[in-house]
Amino acid sequence: MVIIHNLGFPRIGARRELKFALETYWRGECPSEQLQAIGADLRHRHWSLQADLDLVPVGDFSFYDHVLDMSFTLGHLPERALGFVGNPLDNYFRLARGRSAPGTGEPIAAGEMTKWFDTNYHYIVPEFTAASEFELNASRLLEQLTEAQTLGIKAKPVIIGPVTYLALGKVKDGSDKLALLPRLLPVYAELLARLAAQGVEWVQIDEPLLVTELTADWRHAFETAYHTLKSGRVKLLLATYFGALAENAYLAANLPVAGLHVDAINGRDDVLPLIGLLPSHKVLSLGVVDGRNVWKTDLSTTLDWLEPLAERLGERLWLAPSCSLLHVPMDLDRERRLDPEIKSWLAFAAQKLDELRVLGKALRQGRDAVKAELAANAAAVAARRHSPRVHDPVVKAAIAAISADMGRRRSPYAVRAAKQAALLKLPKFPTTTIGSFPQTAEIRQARRRFKAGETDAAAYQEAIRTEIARTVREQEALGLDVLVHGEAERNDMVEYFGEQLAGYCLTENGWVQSYGSRCVKPPILFGDVRRPRPMSIEWTVYAQSLTEKPMKGMLTGPVTLLNWSFVRDDQSRSDTCRQLALAIREEVLDLERAGVKIIQIDEAALREGLPLRRSQWQEYLGWAVESFRIAANGVRDETQIYTHMCYSEFNDIIASIAAMDADVITIECARSQMELLDAFECYAYPNAIGPGVYDIHSPNIPSAEQMIELLEKAAKRIPPERLWVNPDCGLKTRQWAEILPALAHMVSAARHLRMKG
Ligand code: GLN
Ligand code: ZN
Repeated sequence: MVIIHNLGFPRIGARRELKFALETYWRGECPSEQLQAIGADLRHRHWSLQADLDLVPVGDFSFYDHVLDMSFTLGHLPERALGFVGNPLDNYFRLARGRSAPGTGEPIAAGEMTKWFDTNYHYIVPEFTAASEFELNASRLLEQLTEAQTLGIKAKPVIIGPVTYLALGKVKDGSDKLALLPRLLPVYAELLARLAAQGVEWVQIDEPLLVTELTADWRHAFETAYHTLKSGRVKLLLATYFGALAENAYLAANLPVAGLHVDAINGRDDVLPLIGLLPSHKVLSLGVVDGRNVWKTDLSTTLDWLEPLAERLGERLWLAPSCSLLHVPMDLDRERRLDPEIKSWLAFAAQKLDELRVLGKALRQGRDAVKAELAANAAAVAARRHSPRVHDPVVKAAIAAISADMGRRRSPYAVRAAKQAALLKLPKFPTTTIGSFPQTAEIRQARRRFKAGETDAAAYQEAIRTEIARTVREQEALGLDVLVHGEAERNDMVEYFGEQLAGYCLTENGWVQSYGSRCVKPPILFGDVRRPRPMSIEWTVYAQSLTEKPMKGMLTGPVTLLNWSFVRDDQSRSDTCRQLALAIREEVLDLERAGVKIIQIDEAALREGLPLRRSQWQEYLGWAVESFRIAANGVRDETQIYTHMCYSEFNDIIASIAAMDADVITIECARSQMELLDAFECYAYPNAIGPGVYDIHSPNIPSAEQMIELLEKAAKRIPPERLWVNPDCGLKTRQWAEILPALAHMVSAARHLRMKG
């Protein structure tokens, strides 16, 4: 009979209990026992929501990050974290975020953070050298296992597999990470033995690396690893997700493990051939409920597909979500203000488990046993499919009418640049910022009170205008050349536009962990996108009225809106992106009509939308760049278009960045010491560039000398007449007291360069 299981559950808590507990602990306002108790309570609650499943994940809970947990389990810490005396949890937080609670040990450099595959979840990167050693420390996992077993939970411990673990890390000394595999595997073998000794039958071993393109070395590493681990007593369920196995199907099917989990949402076409390849003793777990998105599963269609497979596979068929439910909000029932019609189309983590239960019961007892559930599901799915709220003929017509020249500027860059220079009369090495200024407690409070209905729109508007006026005053006093209004009215650069565009809705509690205690609430894009009214013009025009200096209009670009929202699964991402592009284009043209001479369209998340397989990059970059161009390029030659990207790996996509044809791009650079400018070594980027000279993710205030040094480095690669001076990213998370001196240093660094010639 089919087995129903889960791969992982959100851990932050329905009310973000973990976030608040962590932050209280880090402020030194509660003892570690209290934090531990809250963690245990969350685990118990989350297990009890899953208790009826045949197997329940254990070890998916984390106080910060599951990759960092794995590093601790493997006894693999960078040198600066070794020999710590005190509570190991404090050492864990030191590595996670640089420090723990006050008085719990010296701060150290935090581990680097990077995105977990193509999600918006960040993990702490393992650091490897040729001398890396591993030593099992299974206590966290074993304790949680005991907890679960005591509660009568049918526990399936979850760990990251050795090959993916190695692949996720960064080598610090140029050595070969794969050379560490023979040292790593005995620790895994020991861990599996300890789990077996504690009565575990199945262990889920996550190897999402298998959905990426592998070189022969890495393929070989999989074989070595699993042939080494096969003699253990536990059964391994090798879990892959976030995409299709494709050319790795044969490899995955033949690794000596007891079962394989595959993503049947993104890799459905792979499943039939895979069944042919799979040795007949192996379990096949199919991820049939989307763990990355918020829509209800079409249960009847899924059953049409599953029933013949169930017949064929019998007991060997397991069902699960496509990946851990970490990437979706926890419980739809907590949404009280969501439009009921849209709500009826959605499923969050708790509801996704219900869908699995229905599928399981239908396969075990026949569809009649879940007739009512299937009927309700079919009605919801059909209602969504045909809803006039999803389909807007005006938008569809506008998409059909997109023509190639909509994405083309009227003249080439050199012509535009001359016209813009004549109009804007900026000095050499012009200075500017990326958009946001500090979001002070007063702004947040004003917004909270307005949203709670405690103050009216006029009072809120007045509070924002006061803040804009202050921001303009400060920038004039600093002597910046191109000013911004400061984005005080924006809680978040995606949410702000999501609130105003038709086709989007927002949740109250739809939090998803981004890193550590930080969560985001991605807006839900459910229907054709349209801009009912201007979204940003008023604030920008007001800000411009306060100064003679040029004021930049600030927008979020279509690709970033797409990548940071939950988007439709009933049309392609590229179609959705084009709709967003048309909406932003209208805003751009309205800004231009309102007299705004410089418009910045942020594409902070363009890079992270890259598919996991390189062979699919060009296709994505093609429509992503086209969408940006549609949004941006309808303006006159005199209007200067800016874009901003907050990352530093550039080399591999520089040609696409250039194809966006923005007049100026600003990029992150300070932390990597302009390393990313290497990209410009082999590729002559044709337009203007502002490489960030101020690392705004750090509370440190850089000196003018440090910034001059960075600028001089940049000036070797970028002709001075095309070099801008700006910070790495927006300043919203910083304090005024930090940014004022830093920006003053930045302005004097630019002046120094001008004087030198
Ligand atoms: N304009 C935005 C800001 O300054 C850009 C933020 C980002 O790139 N993440 O806040
Ligand atoms: Zn940025």
